[in-house]
Amino acid sequence: MDQPQYLVKISYSWRSRGISMRATKAGEIHVTASPLVSKARIREFIDSHSEWIEKALGKTADARAREEAFFERLPLQTREERAEAKARMDAIIGPLVEKYAPLMGVSPSAVSYRASRSRWGSCNPSTRRINFSYYLLLLPDICIEHVVVHELAHLLVSGHGPAFYKVMDRHFPRWKEARALARRTVLAARSCAPGTRLSPFSREVEVTDN
Ligand SMILES: [Zn+2]
Repeated sequence: MDQPQYLVKISYSWRSRGISMRATKAGEIHVTASPLVSKARIREFIDSHSEWIEKALGKTADARAREEAFFERLPLQTREERAEAKARMDAIIGPLVEKYAPLMGVSPSAVSYRASRSRWGSCNPSTRRINFSYYLLLLPDICIEHVVVHELAHLLVSGHGPAFYKVMDRHFPRWKEARALARRTVLAARSCAPGTRLSPFSREVEVTDN
């Protein structure tokens, strides 16, 4: 018999009833079991789902490749490509910051850009520096505007508690719609959306995307 080519992470939780298994976006298999479940039973569960695991990992690899393809629509390899992206960012982000910063009563000390695929923007409230991802250029206008207001709002409130969303409601009431659209835009490039169940035979088995 072939040795499996994947790693399974097992954790125990009293909140877990029985055994559940999921494939993560990073291509790992996570099994969560109740502490009452024996090791042998967990091994049996994993072995009996080997086909599901192969399929799930194949799908996440495919999803990763498609997500990569989404980001690669914005080439940032050469100096010319980066210069062009920076010019486009300046033209879009600059006016938005100029519009919203006075309305919100904030003043960032610096605005810079990064080729970040994991975060659309970030804010350091103590230095008042704000960063935006070049990949915002791949999103619809409303999403870019939303990220700008979101990061500026962090100059007023850090974290994402009710006070933060109060600021968002006031200055960018369509934040929910914009956030969902950004997610959909990236997910549309993937073959399998988060939470897609790959197998109908067990309610315990699901693929989540975290
Ligand atoms: Zn935030």
